[in-house]
Amino acid sequence: MTQANQETKYDDNNIFAKMLNGDIPYHKVFEDDKTLAFMDIMPQAKGHVLVIPKQKAVDLVDLEPEYAAAVLMTSKKVMQAQRQVFEREGIIQMQLNGSQAGQTVFHYHVHLIPSSIHELGRHAVTQADQGELAEMAKKLAEVINA
Ligand code: 5GP
Repeated sequence: MTQANQETKYDDNNIFAKMLNGDIPYHKVFEDDKTLAFMDIMPQAKGHVLVIPKQKAVDLVDLEPEYAAAVLMTSKKVMQAQRQVFEREGIIQMQLNGSQAGQTVFHYHVHLIPSSIHELGRHAVTQADQGELAEMAKKLAEVINA
């Protein structure tokens, strides 16, 4: 793995690494051999999903081409399901590199947010209802797997 920058080294105990290891629970939307998609616990809009690679990458610089492709393909699947489930065309695809940009979890991830840039909620502030997250994950998974 190449290092993302001088400041941030990959931490095996970051929250997404723990999810990949099965150490903490999450509301799964989709999984394949190279990626995992799950509901964001502090969504910036209803239906906010995160897509992560199964690679130890801090940010975009670290991401290997096969994982970059896999993350994009999973993101397409998730976004198409979001359009259907939430009945809206507009989905924001966002990805933060480095704490200066506002990144808070240092395992590369793509945000897919059913919202508008003019209506986006605050970043990683308000916890969503677990029951609602479970319900949305189930609906999205059903559409993806149909
Ligand atoms: P970043 O700031 O790194 O771009 O985004 C990290 C995202 O992870 C935030 O949107 C935040 O709400 C989400 N997040 C942080 N901790 C957890 C967690 O324990 N579970 C889930 N599902 N999402 C989390």
